Amino acid sequence: MINLVLFGPPGAGKGTQAEFLKEKYELVHISTGDVFRFNIKNATELGVLAKSFIDKGQLVPDEVTINMLNAEVEKNPQAKGFIFDGFPRTSAQADALGELLSSKGTDVSAMVALEVEDEVLVKRLLERGKTSGRADDADEGVIRNRIAVYYKETAILKDYYQAKDKYYGVDGVGSIAEITERISEVIDQL
Ligand code: AMP
Repeated sequence: MINLVLFGPPGAGKGTQAEFLKEKYELVHISTGDVFRFNIKNATELGVLAKSFIDKGQLVPDEVTINMLNAEVEKNPQAKGFIFDGFPRTSAQADALGELLSSKGTDVSAMVALEVEDEVLVKRLLERGKTSGRADDADEGVIRNRIAVYYKETAILKDYYQAKDKYYGVDGVGSIAEITERISEVIDQL
């Protein structure tokens, strides 16, 4: 199984790249942000809870997020592998993912991190906000908070996977196809 953690700050291009990579490598793409947004749209209990955090640019609590991710993985027993997009974002989530995959006799193959400068991220997210319909993309204060939360709570996962020799940084600036190619080079040598 290939299990990729697609990593990087908000606006780095994780979702865009996942769309190409899932076709190319026949992987199941799980975006925790997308699952939350689906639940918000359908006004589920999970959606109502998640919205109160997402609208402020904060993380949804670990327990809620981990239970949701486990359920998404369990929905795909035939998967050849997964692309985790936007998960894990904390070390508790990374531990939970390790446990879940090990219970299935597999593990995280690699963390691929898209590296993009902060000011480029803000510009990209404001641009996306014009059409994405996402409240958290429309407000520069919320965008900057999401980036701050990334550095404060999520960026430590670089060390987490580096210690396991599984961290691969990729330049996230360029055309979509160029970046897909850079990520593919990493995947192809796993
Ligand atoms: P994203 O689509 O990955 O940018 O996620 C949008 C928002 O959903 C984030 O700003 C968080 O509020 C929430 N979210 C997504 N994934 C996670 C996660 N793994 N842990 C906690 N909150 C998350």
